[in-house]
Amino acid sequence: MKIILLSEALANRIAAGEVVERPASVVKELVENGLDAGAKEISVRVEGSGVSLIHVSDDGEGISREDLPLALERHSTSKVKEEADLFRISTLGFRGEALPSIGSVSRLEIVSRARGEEAGYRLRVEGGKRGEPLPAGCPVGTTVEVRDLFFNTPARRKFLKSPATELGHVCDVVNRMAVAFPVVHFRLYHGERLLCDHVPTLQLEDRLRQVLGSEIAGSMVSFTWNRGEIRISGLLSAAPNSFSNSRYLLTYVNHRFVRDRILTHALMEGYETLLMKGRYPAAVLYLELPLEEVDVNVHPSKYEVRFRRQSEVHDAVVEAVRDGLRREAKEPAPRAIVKDERAFVGVRENPLPYAVPSFIRREFQFARPGSVESETKPGEVENGFYSSLEVLGQILGCYLVCVSSQGLVLIDQHAAHERVAFERMRHQLDCGKLERQNLLIPQTLELPLHEASLLEQNLGALSQLGFSVEGFGPNTFAIESVPALLPAGDYRDVLRGMVMELAHVEGSTELKQNLEERLMTIACHSVIRANRKLSKEEIQALLRDLDQIDFATQCPHGRPVLIQFSEEQLERMFKRA
Ligand code: ADP
Ligand code: MG
Repeated sequence: MKIILLSEALANRIAAGEVVERPASVVKELVENGLDAGAKEISVRVEGSGVSLIHVSDDGEGISREDLPLALERHSTSKVKEEADLFRISTLGFRGEALPSIGSVSRLEIVSRARGEEAGYRLRVEGGKRGEPLPAGCPVGTTVEVRDLFFNTPARRKFLKSPATELGHVCDVVNRMAVAFPVVHFRLYHGERLLCDHVPTLQLEDRLRQVLGSEIAGSMVSFTWNRGEIRISGLLSAAPNSFSNSRYLLTYVNHRFVRDRILTHALMEGYETLLMKGRYPAAVLYLELPLEEVDVNVHPSKYEVRFRRQSEVHDAVVEAVRDGLRREAKEPAPRAIVKDERAFVGVRENPLPYAVPSFIRREFQFARPGSVESETKPGEVENGFYSSLEVLGQILGCYLVCVSSQGLVLIDQHAAHERVAFERMRHQLDCGKLERQNLLIPQTLELPLHEASLLEQNLGALSQLGFSVEGFGPNTFAIESVPALLPAGDYRDVLRGMVMELAHVEGSTELKQNLEERLMTIACHSVIRANRKLSKEEIQALLRDLDQIDFATQCPHGRPVLIQFSEEQLERMFKRA
């Protein structure tokens, strides 16, 4: 075996394998370059889903004649100079390999005129072979044209999906960038057809309307949250809307769209009991933190990041999301219910020389800026949303019919009771003060052998939840106390339910993690089932309780507590509007 040094062309081709997976990756790299150059307008045109042609032009600062050949050389970049720069990357690009990689698997032409220069220049590369810069008439900015992608790597070409899918990826790329840079004008054409025209705006809400459509964007609420050097902001879908998959989750770190497990996990944890199983929110999350806190040099595609303080970031996101949702749930607004089947508009899913992280802070105005300290403490509610409702009555044994200042409100009393019980229980657990009630006459429970041994092993955990249970003979137990929140009655069924849950848990940490799920079970077992007539006083008490707790818009399984119809919605239903 003989070791040889690979030619530059071959090395580029290898790098291209990682950076240029499909037409959309080319679009991503070229648009990133435009944004890094401070463009205010970026126009993308593709033909044949990007395989025959990708044409990206920007009005950024351009490239000078001397730099033009360098731009196409491997490891040449204007964005990083020394090693230390790698730990505070403020641009989207930094690896200096996108253009040479693309040039090695296509026929590429770059035409650019640097700001302040009289003329522009064009330079061609074909399958990695570079020509000489020639004068060209063009405005300030850069245009890159990529033809016949993968013409010299047929294997790669075979891996491409259907034209519609590839075009979908291109749209996704443009849409995601557009959400990160609302002040930049983005256009996307497929042939002559205009697929996206995202006009510049200072409002994230407006940009999101352009990208996701007003139905989904209109169902979202904005939030901002700061702690120390971490700033989190964005938009979250609020009750009653949720979606059957995660394609409307967009997460950004310092204006870079990323796919990050930590962020997604934290976001979902923030929603916690507000979503039904298998449902996802629509959410745009901007995380901004000091450059040196994030490592973006993880993968050539730059979709991944690493956080220096991972768990801190995670917890901050959970808190920020919870906070935003909690505030929203205090004054639930009538909201159109979004039909889930809808696809991404287009397809699924600093205009300044941008000194990144701070620019949104300066230029953005959020529709409803929230202050972090503005939480209402339990017990302080004067006249909350629920207490101010006028109750007309109870129908079908389980719904309360009410009138609000905005229209009609229907409340599922069972779901409402569940959330109240759940939040009370959670509150008691959080303060470590779970009240219990001793039973005058212990109730005895007999279990099948395997369930009995499960219970036996978990008496400690159950005790933490307020159940004192003792052995009382073979496979038989005496229930001596239960959580005080449970109404009087037969607790054997409750405990049987708990044992069933125990069967699925292994290890004490998991047991602890499942405390909350257990809580839900208890809450559900404890509350008044539907089909019970409530007295006027009971209804008033329930409404007051709802005002005192968090997340009163959904039961702990994510089902809605209330459904509202605004006057406008009612008029539409009656064809008056
Ligand atoms: P990177 O973006 O990682 O630096 P690229 O290969 O994408 O690497 O680009 C190489 C260099 O070419 C950039 O650092 C930049 O100086 C220049 N360049 C590329 N595209 C543009 C553009 N659209 N406008 C201005 N300069 C550009
Ligand atoms: Mg680049």
